[in-house]
Amino acid sequence: MKNIIVAIDGYSSCGKSTIAKGLAQKLDYIFIDTGAMYRATTLYFLDNGVDFNDSKAVETALNNISIHFEKKGDQIITFLNGQNVENDIRTMRVSQSVSPVATISAVRRAMVREQQAMGKLKNVVLDGRDIGTVVFPDAELKLFITADPDIRAQRRVLELKKKGQKVDFKAVKTNLLERDHIDSSRADSPLRQADDATVIDTTHLQLEEQLEMVYELALEKIER
Ligand code: C5P
Repeated sequence: MKNIIVAIDGYSSCGKSTIAKGLAQKLDYIFIDTGAMYRATTLYFLDNGVDFNDSKAVETALNNISIHFEKKGDQIITFLNGQNVENDIRTMRVSQSVSPVATISAVRRAMVREQQAMGKLKNVVLDGRDIGTVVFPDAELKLFITADPDIRAQRRVLELKKKGQKVDFKAVKTNLLERDHIDSSRADSPLRQADDATVIDTTHLQLEEQLEMVYELALEKIER
């Protein structure tokens, strides 16, 4: 049995986190939601009035940020400086600023350093935009997830409604497409499919089918 790293990348709201969390549970691996780290950083910047264009202010803020995850039942909760921010980081307010924040190289360097430290012992599943290309280019299993934009927006709306947030389909879809555009066109580690990634289109797949598929792929690598 081999210890492996599973790198899951792809567009916004394709179900990456759900797949990653489910796979981590099946494998008894640690799940790292790297998007939550960019979101928590963005929340800190917004709440503390950090000017994204002021590199000194950004550096100072990054030195004052500590992010960690805690498992509560089958939930993974994001903490920013000791405070539970799981709900706050999923609001449209944060969704609208997170991609611009994620273009800042100093932010990326800080996040990637943390992620590499968290995954160095392997037995991890990470989901994000640059995991298979930058964070763990040698990951044993790389997946690239896509889905039809309307389906993605519908799934996202349902998820936010379940959390009690009032959301509008059009605003959610616009935000997804905007984030995809910024994420794919930024200069520093843009979102792209790693050459050796397996592509999974989740448009017509139920969660159970997606999970079964990725679990089989992971077992092939682990048992090799
Ligand atoms: O995964 P999630 O949609 O929560 O990520 C929020 C945003 O964080 C993305 O749209 C992207 O701008 C940024 N991100 C990133 N690199 C990652 C993970 C997320 O740039 N590895």
